Amino acid sequence: MEMRQTASRIAFERHPAGRRVETLDLKKEMELYGSEIRAAIEDVLESGQFIGGPAITQLEAELSERLGVTHAIAVSSGTDAILCALMALEIGPGDEVIVPSFTFFATAGCVARLGAKPVFVDVDPRTFNLDPEQIEAAVTPKTRAIMPVHLYGQCADMDPICEIGKRRGLCVIEDAAQALGAQYKGRNACTLGDIACLSFYPTKNLGGFGEGGMILTEDERLAEVCRQLRTHGESERYYHDRIGGNFRLDTMKAAILLVKLKHLDTFTRRRRETAERYNELLREVPVQRPFVPTHQAPVYHQYTIQCDRRDELKASLQEHRIGTAVYYPVPLHLQTCFEGLGYRCGSLPVTERVCQRVLSLPCHPMLHDGDIEHVAKRIRECYGEPDRET
Ligand SMILES: *Cc1c(COP(=O)(O)O)cnc(C)c1O
Repeated sequence: MEMRQTASRIAFERHPAGRRVETLDLKKEMELYGSEIRAAIEDVLESGQFIGGPAITQLEAELSERLGVTHAIAVSSGTDAILCALMALEIGPGDEVIVPSFTFFATAGCVARLGAKPVFVDVDPRTFNLDPEQIEAAVTPKTRAIMPVHLYGQCADMDPICEIGKRRGLCVIEDAAQALGAQYKGRNACTLGDIACLSFYPTKNLGGFGEGGMILTEDERLAEVCRQLRTHGESERYYHDRIGGNFRLDTMKAAILLVKLKHLDTFTRRRRETAERYNELLREVPVQRPFVPTHQAPVYHQYTIQCDRRDELKASLQEHRIGTAVYYPVPLHLQTCFEGLGYRCGSLPVTERVCQRVLSLPCHPMLHDGDIEHVAKRIRECYGEPDRET
């Protein structure tokens, strides 16, 4: 009941003239949930335990139950979740991992850090996710894994990807950093491949107060190895079976995440409502709205449109005090640090084109209906659409 009230309190406030609309509003979150969060922090302070402890195991248990995955391992960031998963799979020099180029750096960065080679495959121009049709051509005898990314909170087309994985003996790692709560054919993100990685970076759907991440898998042995790698490869205190790192999540952050997790369904519902509202309000504007195949239930980590003259639209919205973001302006295969891999302009034409055309509109759960209308109205004006009552 309390959650429902909170959702409507957010929804029905109007947009005061001149108010800034940002891509994130953590101050508003603190207004709504600050007292619960402070109480959780206080509990940790009193316990005197800042590493490990019940908050960590409870967070792992709640996420594993919510998602329907047997093993959950809390780690220090989404990046470390990916790194640790790759280390557990013993991916290293001489190995190749198929990844999209249209993603956050960590997806490919972790592969390269371990001395393996990221092999970039183009994306579907409508969903922005790895194009299964193009994966097979990138498989070589060195390929060890495929790492699809569920970009903007919508799952990659996992059935054909896992089918290729199975047939070619490749592990499938889900980069679900943006997709906690998303469903694909009625199945949860993080249950679709062999191992999955989440991020609790403050902007993510379950955003923490600092860095954080989680590894999820059904594979008991992989889970055990990840748990060891998280604490320098220890099998027991000061006995190191393998070389790991310090990939632990702080207790305080876990306690805060447990509070936020209680409200995750409200946040997700609100993101979906916002996306629906944008869809209606932008119907007649010459921008491409997010494409959602019928078997997908995205969580709108971002509401991302595609348009011509994207930078002009972005600048014009900025003038009207509306924050937007470009995820991502430069594809990974054209990043300076990956020059040695031999890609050039034209290697992945869809990725390169969408990098010029995408724009993510404010879509966080603290956004008011009035804000959404305000953003849509400004976009319509940019395209010279007459104003209409909505
Ligand atoms: C955020 C993100 C990561 C990394 O997570 P951090 O917690 O920031 O380290 C990895 N992949 C994708 C797709 C992301 O969006």
